[in-house]
Amino acid sequence: MFYQWVSDNLNVAGQAVQEYWSHCEGLEFFSRLNLKKEDYATCIPVYWHMDGVKVYKNQKAWIYSFCSATRKGLSTETKLVFTLVRDTIVQKHSTHDEIAKRIGYCMSVLETGRFPHVDEYGRPFPQSSAQASRAGSCYAGGWTARFAGFKADWEGRVVAHKFERNYSAHNICEKCSATRANFGNFNDDAAYMGTRRSFDEYVHSCSARRLSAWVNVRGWCPDRNLEGVAMVAIASCLCEDLEEKDPHQTLAQLEKRMGEELWNSYKSWCAAHRKTPCSHRFNLARLGREQWNAFPEMGSTYKGAVIKDMIYWSAAYLWQQQGTTPGSNLRCHAMHALATFQKKIDENPGFFNRRVARETANYARVFLLFYQRLAADDRAKFGEVRRCYKLTPKFHCMVNLAEYIEHSCRNPRFEHCYAEEDLTRQIGRVASATHPRTMDYTTLHRYRALLQLTGVFRSQAAGGPRR
Ligand SMILES: [Zn+2]
Repeated sequence: MFYQWVSDNLNVAGQAVQEYWSHCEGLEFFSRLNLKKEDYATCIPVYWHMDGVKVYKNQKAWIYSFCSATRKGLSTETKLVFTLVRDTIVQKHSTHDEIAKRIGYCMSVLETGRFPHVDEYGRPFPQSSAQASRAGSCYAGGWTARFAGFKADWEGRVVAHKFERNYSAHNICEKCSATRANFGNFNDDAAYMGTRRSFDEYVHSCSARRLSAWVNVRGWCPDRNLEGVAMVAIASCLCEDLEEKDPHQTLAQLEKRMGEELWNSYKSWCAAHRKTPCSHRFNLARLGREQWNAFPEMGSTYKGAVIKDMIYWSAAYLWQQQGTTPGSNLRCHAMHALATFQKKIDENPGFFNRRVARETANYARVFLLFYQRLAADDRAKFGEVRRCYKLTPKFHCMVNLAEYIEHSCRNPRFEHCYAEEDLTRQIGRVASATHPRTMDYTTLHRYRALLQLTGVFRSQAAGGPRR
């Protein structure tokens, strides 16, 4: 049971964690863990995750959970909820800091693998207590655990860490010095390139009030906030392709092309590749092209797995369009780089070898450079009258991600938040069925009961995503 929590394959649990840690050697957070080589095989790397979830009709709760970095699988079987807090009782800055301090305490206990001598306030337990009598003895047969990463969406990261540098500020990135003014330049000589902040730099640049209590969690640093990538490029490339085919067409004519030419191409690609096509036929609203000066973007009707297929399909589609219109080659190259990047991620195990890591990172960079060029050409041609390629801080994530992949050889597919988000949703459903006055307490109790009767979760999760 315990080994199952550590790794997918019980027989190689020790090997899996050993492999994980040996890949972390040389990374900044790892040097701060003080983990010895001989302890790799018995130390579980722990990911923390936090996310907001809607409860009842219009309230929100924050859920913290944790899991082993070496295990994938059903969210309810591989992750554990740590705590839940209602947004209405959150005091800005202090509540999440208090949680971080508790997490710091838990991690310091987990690091030793032994029952603690002191409580979370540093006070020794009363002499006759059960806690005092077991203090110092192993609770998991010598296994220990260390912090390995923090995962949250952009909003969660700002809330949990109080970052002054965040996507809505002028300095958009907590990891490097990218700003609103310069992040759209993806060339090697861009001002922010190679300016990753170290943990010490982060601590020194923060006022005491803004310093995240996550500094109490040994190993945490802004650099260890892991991120996925979300794609907005598909709609832009596809729209421009259709629009260049007839520069004088009306929006209604464009919509007709989307619903017919484009949609048929997508459907037949899905049939040829044995993929289940999405049932939402393309139209102006779903591709975010209701006006010429609004940036196209795939609507939220298209979910993660569908978008992923669409990356592959649109690369294939644009490949066929090469040479038909002025920008067709650039668009084809951009989407092709993105699709190859995605393919490397999909087809490789948890860690790339050095060569593949470098290639994967380079495809991400090549994509960004083509996209930057498309955006610049488009601006030069149409100005504000017709806009097509949005450059949001999200694209900047890919710069950091490429650097991270090259540096750590980690396959980001193993760090996505899908499973955590799934768990958060399920807890949200449990919370919504409780009485508002005792929601936090009752939810955690029911969660514990559900863990014991995992059958309940299993039947609920059966229809959910299995990634
Ligand atoms: Zn950055």
